[in-house]
Amino acid sequence: MGSIADNLGGVTRLIQKATLQAGRKPGSVNLLAVSKTRSAEELREAVAAGQRAFGENYLQEALDKIEALTDLADIDWHFIGPIQSNKTRQIASAFSWVHSVDRLKVARRLSEQRETDLPPLNICLQVNINNEQSKSGCKPEELPELVSEISKLPGLSLRGLMAIPDPDQAEPALRASFHRLANALNELKQTCPAAGPLDTLSMGMSGDLELAIAEGATWVRIGTSVFGKRVPKS
Ligand SMILES: *Cc1c(COP(=O)(O)O)cnc(C)c1O
Repeated sequence: MGSIADNLGGVTRLIQKATLQAGRKPGSVNLLAVSKTRSAEELREAVAAGQRAFGENYLQEALDKIEALTDLADIDWHFIGPIQSNKTRQIASAFSWVHSVDRLKVARRLSEQRETDLPPLNICLQVNINNEQSKSGCKPEELPELVSEISKLPGLSLRGLMAIPDPDQAEPALRASFHRLANALNELKQTCPAAGPLDTLSMGMSGDLELAIAEGATWVRIGTSVFGKRVPKS
């Protein structure tokens, strides 16, 4: 691996190439740098190289970094980890996006707790696209009801769907998982057109970003290819 700046350049080129190959509009895929376990200094390096959007999984770790980096302007913080409902207040005030909403209770709390002087919180519904036991995400068949309830919440802007497909699938099955998520978003656009912008597919990580872009990803969430291999959190 090179420096963080070099890695960001490499990932950006990969995204551009995959976007072009998919016949999609240049600039239609955004890079979320997934910075869990990374130090504030490493994030500073990424910001110096032009990166603005960061994805964090662990609330306390994220709040510490947000605090350490308040001198930097225009950073967009995205929460992408499992959400405990007693932690929603801090998430609603410190982040501009939450990709991992998977139940109504959490959505309601985030909406109520979003300060009214802030723009609505951008959210994606996380879908358990491979019906994996013990994995976060709602079931695909729960989406219409969830979306219809969430569309009534004034503190949220429903941007779209997120998934973490089972990474052990062979490539065709993985691609089919991304395709199902894209289809689910298209269906929601037809059936609940007023539910929110519904312009976002958060899918694709370091190992599968090309496949995700081919199937319509608008945010790819990239950790390892930007910051290097993670040391497991102790
Ligand atoms: C860690 C993580 C990523 C990034 O994974 P890499 O394989 O390191 O790119 C993306 N999305 C979520 C939800 C994660 O937890």
